[in-house]
Amino acid sequence: MALEKHLLSKSTFIRGLQCRKSLFLYKHYIHLRDPISSEQKAIFSRGNNVGMMARGLFPGGVDASPSTPRHFSESVAKTTKLIEEGAEIIYEAAFQFDRVLVAIDIIVKRDGKWVAYEVKSSSRISPTYILDASLQSYVINGSGLPLEDFFLVHMNTSYIRKGELDLHQLFTIVSVKKQTLQNEGMIAENILAEKETLTLAQVPDVPIGEQCFSPYNCDFMGQCWKNMPTDSVFSLSGIPKSELFSLYNSGIKRIEDIDLNSEAVAGLTGLKMQIDAIRQHAPIINKPGIKKFLSELQYPLFFLDFETTMPAVPMYEGNKPYQHLPFQYSLHYKKDPHSEPEHFEFLADTHTDPRKSFLLSLLEDTKRPGDILVYYATFERSIFNSLRKDFPEFSKEIDLRLSRIKDLILPFKDRLYYHPEMKGSSSIKNVLPALVPGFSYDNLMITNGNIAMGAYEKLRTETDLFVQQELRDALLAYCKLDTLAMVKILEVLEKSVE
Ligand code: SF4
Repeated sequence: MALEKHLLSKSTFIRGLQCRKSLFLYKHYIHLRDPISSEQKAIFSRGNNVGMMARGLFPGGVDASPSTPRHFSESVAKTTKLIEEGAEIIYEAAFQFDRVLVAIDIIVKRDGKWVAYEVKSSSRISPTYILDASLQSYVINGSGLPLEDFFLVHMNTSYIRKGELDLHQLFTIVSVKKQTLQNEGMIAENILAEKETLTLAQVPDVPIGEQCFSPYNCDFMGQCWKNMPTDSVFSLSGIPKSELFSLYNSGIKRIEDIDLNSEAVAGLTGLKMQIDAIRQHAPIINKPGIKKFLSELQYPLFFLDFETTMPAVPMYEGNKPYQHLPFQYSLHYKKDPHSEPEHFEFLADTHTDPRKSFLLSLLEDTKRPGDILVYYATFERSIFNSLRKDFPEFSKEIDLRLSRIKDLILPFKDRLYYHPEMKGSSSIKNVLPALVPGFSYDNLMITNGNIAMGAYEKLRTETDLFVQQELRDALLAYCKLDTLAMVKILEVLEKSVE
């Protein structure tokens, strides 16, 4: 007998738990969904090889994936057939029960009993993973395959690669059977409620709320939030979402509605400054503080920025999962405040370990004296420190560079300079367009570090020479803008105290 078409899957079930309206829109008005950003695409495309690699823990299995993506009913039939034929290890097994369809990365028959393994490329188990597992377990058991145990498999971040990969050390395997059994009743109730939602004649009336951001940023915000004024209280940053919603729900919808003398606002210096700057339509500048910051900088100045990749699976000797591997830097050099900046850059060859060539080139390019200005020094320092660990023969040189590092984020983090367009953030992505209008990342193919990471990973496997060149050019342009942005930002700070 042919299976009735499923109504829910793992992802739609979790969507429905987050918000019934989101589930309804997804099923009936998918065209209203927000476009997927390049950053999300870059994040989604990462970690896919982790599932394939985890199959190595249980070699010799049979793949029940559908021949074409999304033909999951084919997968359910394949899985049933494989089980009947006596298969003992199945990858991407699919099951349907109660009109809910789930796939599971690996099932294994051990001593006549079935055990399920779901692989996660993250370093820890989140509450959403437990919900995923609870639904999978509910459906698999309900479909007639009683599970003896249910395991989540995730990355062991304390593993250090020595020679060949040791999969049994690379992954941590945790039983979550107890939690899945505890959740059974809740899962059944919510499946019922979600199915009812799907039969509604019109979109459920769900007001915006904290659920729009948790556990994921909802992809229907373009729809539900489209009438939100640009100066709404939600454009304030550094304040918990719960407090912003209580302001909004109490009728204080715009920043101008906030009473600066109210008790709720008293003591929130950052908030007061954001509101003042917005109301004045002008930056708030602490000149003595900026003068002090500038007086501690020694020209000539180097403006430095790194790009790194964080492979889930350690690629080289001595690497851990998700270790930052630097592969690119951009460096601007200014002899004095009035000189034209010189530019230097490095982008590693993608076929070898980038670390040593990166380090040698960087040490060479920064051998002249002068402070090294970075934006958010914690990151650059941590990369230098990990390079020192990996290449102790260069520790003296690395320490000399570390001693010259100064951090350009400080005047913004410490609110010595606050511009309303920074929208409460001291990220260079907000500071640059606020201080240097017309200078932004918007016209670049790569607009942030996550996309840069994705581009570098793509470059490693790309065979088309034109695409390779395009990716390399995009990476170089992005990193160069990061350091040029620092040059421009410093100029604005210098001018602000003239
Ligand atoms: S934006 Fe918020 S209210 Fe709208 S569907 Fe998403 S979670 Fe629900």
